[in-house]
Amino acid sequence: MNTEIVKIDPRAIDQKVLARAGEILKNGGLVAFPTETVYGLGGDALNAQASQKIYRAKGRPSDNPLIVHIADMESLEAIVERTPPEAYVLAERFWPGPLTLILKKNGRIPYETTGGLDTVAVRMPSDAVARALIKASTGYIAAPSANLSGRPSPTEAAHVKEDLDGRIGLILDGGAACIGLESTIVDLTEDVPTVLRPGYITLEMLREALGEVRIDPGLIADDAKERPKAPGMKYRHYAPRANLKIVEGESDAVVREINRQTKELLSHGAQVGILAAEETKLRYEAGTVISIGAREDERVIARHLYGSLREFDALGVDAIFSESFSAAGVGQAIMNRLLKAAGHQVLEV
Ligand code: AMP
Ligand code: MG
Repeated sequence: MNTEIVKIDPRAIDQKVLARAGEILKNGGLVAFPTETVYGLGGDALNAQASQKIYRAKGRPSDNPLIVHIADMESLEAIVERTPPEAYVLAERFWPGPLTLILKKNGRIPYETTGGLDTVAVRMPSDAVARALIKASTGYIAAPSANLSGRPSPTEAAHVKEDLDGRIGLILDGGAACIGLESTIVDLTEDVPTVLRPGYITLEMLREALGEVRIDPGLIADDAKERPKAPGMKYRHYAPRANLKIVEGESDAVVREINRQTKELLSHGAQVGILAAEETKLRYEAGTVISIGAREDERVIARHLYGSLREFDALGVDAIFSESFSAAGVGQAIMNRLLKAAGHQVLEV
């Protein structure tokens, strides 16, 4: 299959391109498209075969459910058993935006879309292209991140092409994703609302809106005893090809240790990448340094994380050392993704 990238300007959406993409979706085909979080690989969420195509194209395990993207509240009410009051509170504050809600599904969403679960994940994105595409489709687009399973999520159309070339027909290129990390997932099917995946909407923001909010214990534990409730969180994920290690500790000690290990690996003929903050990037004496952004602006770090990991892939490095970043606010999501990308290899210095 030939994979075409078509540019689409979010401020002046080409209606011909949009109609073509909408038709592909309505006919059970796949289209990759931009959202404010990361690029999604879309298929009709009401069509079991379309969902199966998504799993095949990504090489995604079929027990890992898809998020259903909608453009209005009526669409939510039409696919769930009940819309609890918390859903309205969160939708009012954070939709359209980077928040996914887990609710009990009704019969309209097939089990192929929910990985066999009786619950469904629903999000209303804010990106103009994503919203227009949902309206040009059946109103329900199932879309996981548009990467091959396990790889860093795509934040640009070129990343999608890298992973899915020949596997899908059309990629809509609406420019770089402005957030760069996947949505926060909140489960509203339990007594207490529970965060299953941290994201741009932080725990503090959710608590301010709802009062008590828990974090899924399976998310924090890095052993196998507690299984995360979001099936996708149990897989190794977001990983670059090279072995990635996080070095954690006081800044001088971190720089010293990364310099030491980098020189040692270089002396054995290996290529080494270093993921550093803007403040420390000039302190590395060898290896290829990529600055992820200044520590004071975690939003910039979030936006650059996946692209930086892919850049190391393009450079063909054998090993990557990363500094550790603050886990406060959006930092919780950044460190969650970085730790998974590193397979939880952390060196304390
Ligand atoms: P992705 O779209 O690739 O960012 O992945 C979607 C994430 O949402 C995965 O971690 C899934 O396991 C999670 N997810 C989707 N639907 C549900 C659900 N019904 N219950 C729990 N987690 C879900
Ligand atoms: Mg994903």
